[in-house]
Amino acid sequence: MEKKVALITGGSRGIGKSVAEKFAKNGYNLVINYVSDNTDTNKLSEELKNIGDIEVLFVKTDVTNYEDCENMTKQAIEKFGRIDVLVNNAGITKDGLLMRMKQEDFDRVIDVNLKGVFNVTKTVIPYMMKQKEGHIVNISSVVGVTGNAGQCNYSASKAGIIGFTKSLAREVASRNILANCVAPGFIKTDMTDVLKDEVKENINAQIPVKRMGTAQEVANAIFFLSSEENTYITGQVLNIDGGMVM
Ligand code: NAP
Repeated sequence: MEKKVALITGGSRGIGKSVAEKFAKNGYNLVINYVSDNTDTNKLSEELKNIGDIEVLFVKTDVTNYEDCENMTKQAIEKFGRIDVLVNNAGITKDGLLMRMKQEDFDRVIDVNLKGVFNVTKTVIPYMMKQKEGHIVNISSVVGVTGNAGQCNYSASKAGIIGFTKSLAREVASRNILANCVAPGFIKTDMTDVLKDEVKENINAQIPVKRMGTAQEVANAIFFLSSEENTYITGQVLNIDGGMVM
């Protein structure tokens, strides 16, 4: 049987890498997007192929560039002939109180986190429409629901992703394409490693399960939403936050 294919943006580190590992374990061929020069694609390819008997295509592309995203999707189709799952995971933070936030820090976060989701999804959706099936999972955040001081740019981008996903879910449901969001709370990755220890302790104290989540815990939920097990859930936001937001 033809292997299924998952395209994961920002799949080189953190949550995206765990998502790639989860799909590899389940026999999906992978398209892994990343942007920086630090990514050792040979090492990552070996790690993923040790997990599953799969093929991996790496595409270095900044998701803010529409033409490059179009090209990435074309490369994926040329290599694998289909895209069954899209996980829009690439994201950045540039935190600061609004009083001090620079315009360029607002624009860049919106560009990567929200416009990036538009760019990649728009280039992938025609192929899913033709296939008459597909799963899309976009990574929002609990702060897209609750807001967070110091993150006007980030929380606006993550709230935008929720609106985008719900609208998309309505547009494509009749073609058997399901689109959902996950909203992680605090997850141990490079993104949260920058926080000071006392801030982390303070955060843990506010989480009902009393610890940060792991990237694997987020990947498990993303896999469920985008696997064949999910045939009837669309337009939803699933919090993965140890009970922070109820
Ligand atoms: P991370 O460890 O900082 O990894 C970010 C990933 O995004 C990397 O693979 C990076 O690629 C890629 N990336 C960044 N800018 C990009 C661009 N312009 N084009 C393409 N790829 C780009 O982040 P993470 O903590 O795993 O977060 C992953 C997602 O979950 C993000 O959307 C984040 O907002 C969301 N999230 C995280 C948390 C958390 O607590 N960690 C909580 C809620 C939501 P390179 O390796 O090439 O730089």
